[in-house]
This record gives sequence, C-alpha cells and structure tokens, in this order.
Amino acid sequence: MAEDTSDKQIATRLATAGRRRQWTSAPGLPGGTVNPPVWRASTHLYDNCADLKAEVGNNAEGRFYYGRRGAPTQWALAEALTSLEDGAFGAMLYPSGVAAITGSYLAVMRPGQRLLITDNAYDPSRNIGTGLMKNFGVVPEFFDPMDIDGFRALCAQEGKIGAVLLEAPGSLTFEVCDVPALAAIAREAGAFVLCDNTWAGPTGFQPLAHGCDGSINALTKHVGGHSDLMMGAVTANERLYRRLRRTAQQLGQVVSPDDAALALRGLRTLRVRLKQESESALAIAQFLSTREEVAAVLCPMLEGAPGHDMWNRDFTGGCGLFSFVLKGRDADARARLIDALQLFGIGYSWGGFESLALPVDPGTCRSVRSWPPSHGEGGAWDGLDESDRFAIRLSIGLEDAGDLIADLKQGLAAMGAI
Ligand SMILES: *Cc1c(COP(=O)(O)O)cnc(C)c1O
Repeated sequence: MAEDTSDKQIATRLATAGRRRQWTSAPGLPGGTVNPPVWRASTHLYDNCADLKAEVGNNAEGRFYYGRRGAPTQWALAEALTSLEDGAFGAMLYPSGVAAITGSYLAVMRPGQRLLITDNAYDPSRNIGTGLMKNFGVVPEFFDPMDIDGFRALCAQEGKIGAVLLEAPGSLTFEVCDVPALAAIAREAGAFVLCDNTWAGPTGFQPLAHGCDGSINALTKHVGGHSDLMMGAVTANERLYRRLRRTAQQLGQVVSPDDAALALRGLRTLRVRLKQESESALAIAQFLSTREEVAAVLCPMLEGAPGHDMWNRDFTGGCGLFSFVLKGRDADARARLIDALQLFGIGYSWGGFESLALPVDPGTCRSVRSWPPSHGEGGAWDGLDESDRFAIRLSIGLEDAGDLIADLKQGLAAMGAI
C-alpha cells in the first residue's frame, strides 16, 4: 500500500488515502485491515515514566498523547483530506462545519481587524462575524463577490484586514465568483483567504491551488453523504494550519473516532456519488428552466446561470445542490409545491444520498445586494422581477432523475396556475 499518493489522480487518492500500514495493522500480527479501526480512547498509556516525560512536550502530529489529540482513526481522516487538496500542508477536524468556520475566524482574527465576508456566504458564517467575532472587537464587513472592482476598493480602505471569507458558489443563490482574482487582491492586502468549499468539495474545486490559504468543508454534507454525521474540516497551507491547530487545541475541539470512521467511509465513494448527483441535477435544472412557473434556475452547472463561466473555468465537478425561483408566486403556492412532493424530504442540510426540498429566502441573509433584485439592477440576477422572490433549494440525491422530474411535475401541478 503506497502511503504517499499525492502524485496520483484524485479518484486513486480517494481510494487509498489515509490507509497507512501502521494504522491498519497490529504489532506482531501479519497482514492488516483495509480500513483503520475505530480507536476509542481518552487515555493513551506509556511504557514508563521516561516515555511519558518525552511525549508530553512533543506536540507533533500522529503521536499518542491523550484523546484530545486524536488517535489513528482521526489522523487517517486528516491525512486523507490533506492528500486530496493540492498545496495542502494539513487538515484540522472540527465537530461541525460551523465549528470549522468559527475555528478559522478565531485562529486568524485579532481585535480591531476587519473581517470581509462574501455577501452570499452561508448564513451562520455571516452571523458568527456579526456576533461572536464582533464581540471580540473584530469589524465584520460584507462585499458583493461578483464585483471585483468594488472588492478592490473595499480592500484599499483603511484598517488591517485579518481575513476574507469566500464561498463559491454562494449559499442559496449559487453565483460562482472569480476566486483567483478575489484571493489575489485579498492576499495583496495581507489577509488570510478562507474559502468555504462545501458545495464542490475537493473533487470539484481546489481553493488552495486557486490562491486561498484554507479550504473549509462541512463534511456533514457530501463527505458523510448519508445524512447521519456532523463534522467539519479546514484543509490549509502551512501558515494557516499552524494557527488552526494551536487554536483548535486551546478550544478543545475534537471529533469522535466513530464519526471519523464514518467520514472516511463516505470519502471513498465521494466522487462517484457527486458525479451521479451532478448529472441528475443538471437534467432537473434543465427541465425546470423550461417551465413557465419558474423565473430562474440558480445552478452553476447550467449554461447561462450566474457564474457558469467561472464554474467552467475553475471547477472540475459539481454536485446536486441548486435553487430555482418561482415566477410571481407567493409563499403559500411554494408550500403547496413542496408539500406535494413525494420523493423529496423537507429538511435542513444536504449532500445525502436522498433528495431534499427546502423553501429559501435569500433576502433574509443579504446586506450588500437586495433580494429580489430591484428592476434594472442587472448583474448576477438579471431578469428577475420584484415579484420573483420565493425560491426552493433542491438537494438532488441518488434516486432516478426521471422519477424526480415526474415528482416535480406533479408538484408544479399541485401548486396550480396563477
Ligand atoms: C451546512 C453548511 C455549513 C455548516 O456545516 P454544519 O456541519 O451543518 O455545521 C457550512 N458551510 C456551508 C456552505 C454549508 O452548507
């Protein structure tokens, strides 16, 4: 079993990463297991006092010490995630995606510094900025990710920028910004560049190779993939990773070995699941774009969608998550549609093997651009009208795409004509 697979294609890395012989075998026994076992441990034992003394001061990776620093199950997951991103030095694990975002902010931000957050960030990423971080003396600011000149001007304003948070595509409206351009401007301004990469994951987009310092991933979504796991990770270059690790250790952030084993299991099939979900999602997005009840389909994989060009240029894959906006309907009509669906669950999260539908109102978590866009505003949401405000987010799973389309057809019928 090759232990360093960094020169291999990502499909090969997904199958082999994190399976070091020393983590899959037992001393004195020939052979070993395919997967690292679940090491449940708080106490790690030493052979004698001299060993204990030597290890206490040794905070290196992959050393037995105490449960808070993990054991081979967590180390294997972190190593696997590291090997999936070109330019990564290490990966820090967190008990949820939100904990990964908070852990990143806390690792790099200092009182008085500016924290620039993309206007289409995942809602909690905004709220941690305007809540916890602001309480610690950080100055949160928001920017339109599709306006490069505006971002450059914001960066040129007075005040040290501690970090910039990007997300591509953004939550709920799914515009894909020009990550390399924004990252270059942010770095020039001396900021750490963080990118929430949960939508594409490492098989679809590589933030570090596009100028970012850290790639945030809610493993809860695609990597878990089965709607039964909460976890997050930040894959980072050396400068960021050292800060993340120090901060996570001080916060006592740790993930359970059982959950790490589930995440490792999910990781092995990540690429094939996302490939299938992307293919189905595109077919469904194309179907929805032909319907008169639909004002816009916000899916970066769809020709003509906001940021489709950037997605084509920078991404190697997509996923099953996108939104569509109802034309001139109200919230009751939207609820009639969603409630009529038979194959879509109604609930938060996404990225599982099963399809979900969720009513979403982007206007509740935007401060730079209003939603719905006002007349003539143009930009990413060109063509949308003031009355086109009610959106539905779909997470497409592994069901047959034809069955899902038939279900959406009967949902649209249940919603009724205007
Ligand atoms: C869900 C999500 C998160 C947070 O993940 P949790 O594990 O639910 O805390 C972060 N970013 C994005 C884009 C998400 O969709």
